Amino acid sequence: MMGKVDLVMWTKNGGKFLRQVFEQIERVIPEENINQRIVVDDHSKDETIRIAKDFNWQVYPNPAHGIASGANEALRHVQTEYFVSLEQDVILAEEWWEKIPMHMANQDVAVAQGIRLATHPTLKILDEYEYSRKGALFGASLDNNLIRTKIIRQLGGFPTKCSICVVYHLLDVIVRANYRWIIDKTVVSQHLRTDLKSYYRHAYLQYANCECHKSDLKVNMRLFLTSPLRSMHLAIAQKHPQLLYVYPRIRFNCLQGALNARNRSIQSIQSDR
Ligand SMILES: [Zn+2]
Repeated sequence: MMGKVDLVMWTKNGGKFLRQVFEQIERVIPEENINQRIVVDDHSKDETIRIAKDFNWQVYPNPAHGIASGANEALRHVQTEYFVSLEQDVILAEEWWEKIPMHMANQDVAVAQGIRLATHPTLKILDEYEYSRKGALFGASLDNNLIRTKIIRQLGGFPTKCSICVVYHLLDVIVRANYRWIIDKTVVSQHLRTDLKSYYRHAYLQYANCECHKSDLKVNMRLFLTSPLRSMHLAIAQKHPQLLYVYPRIRFNCLQGALNARNRSIQSIQSDR
């Protein structure tokens, strides 16, 4: 049913995992269904570009910085009715190609994707916990998606409001336009997370660099304050004591990032006066 699709990925210093990620993509998506392989690279200083070329991906430079700019540059090169958006640290689920394209039978579906769980055992438990308690649209991402090109173009491409929260703003635009975003929880890809330290840093940066204040300080404060109790319940239920310190540490870093972002925006308002 699905003809040829373009594959797009935005990269930045992803050399560490890129070979395994590309190898898995070639295993999961049949060669006869692939039109172009497009990488938009965000000024990588490692071997990302060389690896991408070795795997026959066309490499374009990100004209600015960040995900929105990379994604829009990729979209500019797409030629097919549907395209697949991928990320440099996600190992695509074996059954991704068998299951995700079926969701496009409904013309209102703009985006269909599976979910992904961290490979680090502690982070994996946290991911599963979040998926089990949140709604159908929780876990929207841009790393294992099939996207209907026409709708995204018609809605103005990838939103540029915030360099971090592109996916949330895109989801918002799509839902408001009465199109659908499907998250198929039976298709589970792997998010390559090997160490906690870089994840803590990632949590901080997500909030510190957010320009749109999607989640405010009060929410972050509440999540941090309740994190010891929540992690205790989860640690007992899952028999995984590491959760006792990992989850509060993550929430602390998110809070710190959010505080930092707010102070920065206050400073910029003051300096505008
Ligand atoms: Zn944001």
